[in-house]
Amino acid sequence: MAAGCRARAPGLPLRLVLLAAAALGAEAWEGGCDYYKLCPATKPSMLNVHLLPHTHDDVGWLKTVDQYYYGARDGIQHAGVQYILDSVVSALLANESRRFIYVEIAFFSYWWKQQTVQMQQDVKQLVCQGRLQFANGGWVMNDEATTYYAAIIDQMTLGLNFLRDTFGDCGRPRVAWHIDPFGHSREQASLFAQMGFDGYFFGRLDYQDKKRRKIKKEMEQIWRASANLQPPQADLFTGVLPNGYNPPQDLCWDVLCFDYPVVDDPDSPEYNAKILVNYFLNISTAQAQYYLTNHIVMTMGSDFHYENANIWFKNMDKLIHMVNAEQSKGSLINVLYSTPACYLWELNKANLTWTVKQDDFFPYADGPHQFWTGYFTSRPALKRYERLSHKFLQVCNQLEVLAGPTALAGPYGQGSSARLRQALAVAQHHDAVSGTSKQHVANDYARQLAAGWESCQVLVSNALASLGGSKEDFVFCNQLNISVCPLTQTANHFQAILYNPLAWSITQTVRLPVSDWAYHVRNPSGQTVPSEVIDVSAEGSKFHPELVFPASAPPLGFSIYSVTRLPSRTPQFRDCCSTPVDQGSDHLVIQNEHLRVSFDPNTGLLQEIENLDRGLRLPVSQAFYWYNASSGDFIHPQASGAYIFRPEKNKPFLLRHWVNTRLVKKALVQEVHQNFSAWCSQVVRLYPGQRHLELEWTVGPVPVGDGWGKEVISRFDSPLKTSGRFYTDSNGREILERRRDKRPTWDLNQTEPVAGNYYPVNSRIYITDEQIQLTVLTDRSQGGSSLSDGSLELMVHRRLLYDDNRGVGEALLEPGDGPGTGLVVRGRHLVLLDTVEEAAAEHRLQAQREALAPQLVLAPAGHGTPYSPGVPTLTQFSGLRRELPTAVHLLTLARWGPSSVLLRLEHIFERGEGGMFNLSQPVTLNLQDLFSAFTISHLEETTLSADQPLSKATRLQWRTSTGGGPVPMQSAPSLDPSAVTLQPMEIRTFLASVTWNKERDR
Ligand SMILES: [Zn+2]
Repeated sequence: MAAGCRARAPGLPLRLVLLAAAALGAEAWEGGCDYYKLCPATKPSMLNVHLLPHTHDDVGWLKTVDQYYYGARDGIQHAGVQYILDSVVSALLANESRRFIYVEIAFFSYWWKQQTVQMQQDVKQLVCQGRLQFANGGWVMNDEATTYYAAIIDQMTLGLNFLRDTFGDCGRPRVAWHIDPFGHSREQASLFAQMGFDGYFFGRLDYQDKKRRKIKKEMEQIWRASANLQPPQADLFTGVLPNGYNPPQDLCWDVLCFDYPVVDDPDSPEYNAKILVNYFLNISTAQAQYYLTNHIVMTMGSDFHYENANIWFKNMDKLIHMVNAEQSKGSLINVLYSTPACYLWELNKANLTWTVKQDDFFPYADGPHQFWTGYFTSRPALKRYERLSHKFLQVCNQLEVLAGPTALAGPYGQGSSARLRQALAVAQHHDAVSGTSKQHVANDYARQLAAGWESCQVLVSNALASLGGSKEDFVFCNQLNISVCPLTQTANHFQAILYNPLAWSITQTVRLPVSDWAYHVRNPSGQTVPSEVIDVSAEGSKFHPELVFPASAPPLGFSIYSVTRLPSRTPQFRDCCSTPVDQGSDHLVIQNEHLRVSFDPNTGLLQEIENLDRGLRLPVSQAFYWYNASSGDFIHPQASGAYIFRPEKNKPFLLRHWVNTRLVKKALVQEVHQNFSAWCSQVVRLYPGQRHLELEWTVGPVPVGDGWGKEVISRFDSPLKTSGRFYTDSNGREILERRRDKRPTWDLNQTEPVAGNYYPVNSRIYITDEQIQLTVLTDRSQGGSSLSDGSLELMVHRRLLYDDNRGVGEALLEPGDGPGTGLVVRGRHLVLLDTVEEAAAEHRLQAQREALAPQLVLAPAGHGTPYSPGVPTLTQFSGLRRELPTAVHLLTLARWGPSSVLLRLEHIFERGEGGMFNLSQPVTLNLQDLFSAFTISHLEETTLSADQPLSKATRLQWRTSTGGGPVPMQSAPSLDPSAVTLQPMEIRTFLASVTWNKERDR
């Protein structure tokens, strides 16, 4: 066995070894791996060309995950991942100089469990010897523009811990590898750094940026990926690969390629070896001029390559032999099989000073007029379902911990969070949540998520029954977004259980579809809660009442409300307080204690927002517009499609200059219903106590019968003087400044004044005049921009008639329910008006309330039976003994083993965002008796991905142009569970050994 691979007790899975060790209070982690010492020898006096054999296996794109794995549906694309792994392993075993990296753990783990013990031993040996290395190691290679940070962390944790459990430290990837995602976010690099990666390589960046970098030899840099974390915490060595992720021209030796094989017999009429060698020497020399050291890489592989690995390896064996034979004739080029990590190790040893990058790599264009900014919005319903599923997974994870083992096996059957965890990880893939797969594949992503929800619903039911002490007929109304819930629409008496996954208590207005005019609502203490029924039906349509009442839930816990229908009353008229508004009326105003919002009496459109607490007024208009999607033109053929956004005209079409409005003014909600067209409407809403204005839009089916694909935006216009600047979040975390028609590090030649100014918005976009800030929070990822001062826009939906020629081969024409119809999408924008100083206090908190909104579970009343005899039932429960400080978010609480828990805490403010309450100060908290469900006996801090103890984690050090010498090692702070401190934007990850409390302190 090679150095670095430690033996483990035979027959015991690693997790059990760890648990046994933890129980004894002993060191719970396996020893290290001399990873870089397994790298191949290089020649210091020569140019070393590292060949990187690799395959890029999309976890769904043109085919579903399973179709790719098994190699089904060849007619769509010839690709079979199981054959690739079979073939690569035998090719590696046949010749010990060969090396390979594998990346997508969703595929690898599936293949692994189908192998014999002998095959598993062989593969472990290859890993121990560094001949098979894992790169990236996430469950998938996630998208970077449309993913939410917490979901990225979850999917990386899943993949990396499979590798850890299976291979120990030699299986831990040292290099992050995002060769295909369409642009790169700064937060992604920060998360990778916090996971312990030594370096990061990718393939795609703006063509103008790449050209400049080659000239300036800045293809490789240190990315300083956080404006808050202390360097080098979020510093990451980042390299741009020379040729995307493809091999050099004419050197592609795969069943999927057509290049000439190496013919090295001089007597053969096909002999080409000499020409090939010369060609290789020339392209190596040419490539080296763009990089700083005497090491370069060539990516030898591409999409689903290596199904017959022998073709690749046999030709590379010959190439290496022939090229290196030239050294005896004076050639100074040395070519070798290598891996990205081994290449990185050589760069590190070069001990150069590297320049520093602080912005990001959005938007990505691969040529003039070719901005990949459409996928920021593509498939908006899938994007929302992904975000909702992330929320439900957190609910499921938390209840699995809070209820203890009873969550897994209880009266409702076997519950599990694993299926949803895997489905959600798959959904992070760069063709999944990005919206760039074929339609049948997008349907399959949704199918996987739905199956995950089912397993989690069993778990949640078991947990709620156990914690509440009553077995109820729980109902999950998953169609509340379209106001459908058969239980509440028929029952005379039911319970509404509000589970709050946040570590702060919350108050929220509950809305449920019902069938009558009056209900009696009681809170968990049995007291009457004010409630109202409002009619939400569109004009002229059937009576459609909704019950509205304010509810609250404790941190990490639930409250049970009981609802009873009162004897039927027939209202005198349809709705006492709902009035269609005559155009010309000047009474179109909604107001609560914090906000006053008025509408133009002539057009019915939003006119002004006033923040009453601050005495701020801002004229704001809002309306829907659409861009007509380009189908390509004579000068440039690029069409708008699933990836690319390219409007035909830069000025969007206003959907309608005025709207029909209806005002609903009740004590518990005030709404202005705006009807823009047959396929676009909106409800502008204020609840009591709410500091934001809610705009619930419904868009679709987008008509395309006029021959135009349409990209629909919601645009806000104000007189704010914003100097071409606006701000967007990076994966829901830190904020980046954007400047219209500018890039921070190069002179942009702008070819698309609209699409070239679009950026990903995961959770928020805002504009300011340095005094007033107008912020819009989103409920999913969308593309957004500010195309003139004082204006900001978000693309909410797109329906297109042409493919954009990036491989998916379908127009983004999402079907709706009926044949030939398009998809209807509903979503919400939350608008906040505040001073620049105070704005973050609200948008940071509200963004978390939005991402982890309470989960509503329903049950008919009177059907419950005691969970265990003699144990009283509970109508309220909290998993926390006290709520967390405002600045601290409980990012993860998940079961890690029979007696261990994964815990992540996050400071959600950036430096300088604190406002009058100083919320961006460091916060110290006591974890020791924080949780009511369990007691922590031992706490160990880990890297962000929980696959290494922080005390053992080391990263390569790099000298940067901003500092003198190598940066100091990150020293793990000594851990005192009673005083855990979080700095602004810091996430700390812990594995806690716990004992579940027998009699819960409720
Ligand atoms: Zn891909």
